Amino acid sequence: MARIVMKFGGTSVGDLDRIRNVARRVKAAHDDGHEVAVVVSAMSGETNRLVGLVSDAAALYDTREYDVVVSTGEQVTVGVLSVILQSMGIDARSWLGWQLPFCTEDVHGNARILDIDTSEIERRFAETREVAVVPGFQGLSPRNRITTLGRGGSDTSAVALAAALRADRCDIYTDVDGVYTTDPRVTDKARKLDRVSHEEMLEMASLGAKVLQTRSVSIAMSQGVPLQVLSSFEDKPGTMVTAEDESMEKDVVSGIAFSRDEARVTLIGIPDRPGVAAAIFGALGDAAINVDMIVQSRTVIDGDAKTDMTFTCGQSDLPRALTLMEERYDDIQYTELESDEDVAKVSIVGVGMRTNSGVAKTMFGALAEKNINIKVITTSEIKTSVLVGADYMELAVRTLHDAFGLEGPSAADSQV
Ligand code: ASP
Ligand code: MG
Repeated sequence: MARIVMKFGGTSVGDLDRIRNVARRVKAAHDDGHEVAVVVSAMSGETNRLVGLVSDAAALYDTREYDVVVSTGEQVTVGVLSVILQSMGIDARSWLGWQLPFCTEDVHGNARILDIDTSEIERRFAETREVAVVPGFQGLSPRNRITTLGRGGSDTSAVALAAALRADRCDIYTDVDGVYTTDPRVTDKARKLDRVSHEEMLEMASLGAKVLQTRSVSIAMSQGVPLQVLSSFEDKPGTMVTAEDESMEKDVVSGIAFSRDEARVTLIGIPDRPGVAAAIFGALGDAAINVDMIVQSRTVIDGDAKTDMTFTCGQSDLPRALTLMEERYDDIQYTELESDEDVAKVSIVGVGMRTNSGVAKTMFGALAEKNINIKVITTSEIKTSVLVGADYMELAVRTLHDAFGLEGPSAADSQV
């Protein structure tokens, strides 16, 4: 007998038939003698509809009331799933986020979980093995107000619940059958990974692979929750997200992530003196604009040391970023301010990059051969990202997928 958290996303509970399909999976696990807690999202499209209701109601709204509205999608699915489970003869009970509760910070729209009280669920596990049906996304603030965990937050609810329950595993059921080397819509050579390390998954999730909310992966990593991503529609094993082991380092690159939502800003000819970077990024930070890639280079113009500063941010933040740079002209004193929205970021990710050399050579060589111009490069221990023209993004992904041989079986997979 094991203790299992099963999480089902929006498409998996998209209509009554699909919720029945979820109930059958829950029943099968319960019939096998397991203790089961189910975490569900709102029906697909529902949270978007609720967000639209609030923003149509008033352009500037109170985020406490936003949370009251957008959290209701999950109230529907926990209730409906419980009714169906009960009709199948399963002892099941729903819990709203505030009833357990899922205690969060005093933040609205994007709260982090601080603690989950699982005592009642565990008492009922011990008494009658009652199935707990729990909403994702919902929390309760220290002021007793309803909070939500940010878009995609149900993944985080599930992993945090699994950690609090000390569950044997957390299975995230979704509309894809696992984590892929890259998006199969970009190349049909994309391959499902049997295993991926927490760190790689963290990078891929934050770089734009949308299978898991990034925070859920951090919790799985720090709390040691065995995590699996699998299909709710097909009966086959998914991708295990696990601690890193040596076999994983044999693969130089495990996956390729990309993001179209990028914009580049370059400030040219800034006087090369202390404090300019602080002025630029201080202003952006104060305005809560998330900056991603940063590159500074030095030039000498007419004997004067100058520097060019390039950074990238999300496309929706670009107009505000440019306005801020104009407002701070006196502190920064650039000769030119230019920007480009037709850019995309492509990243290779792999724990093997720590121990294998020649990764940059392969990456840049392959891109050069296809005549893909690189605008900005950044690296960290287990990833290298390049900014390319938006039109070249898909070609870059396919080129790198081939260059690193991601189509073939990986060393990590052969260990399973
Ligand atoms: N329903 C919420 C959303 O769409 C949470 C989730 O599904 O993960 O963002
Ligand atoms: Mg999701």
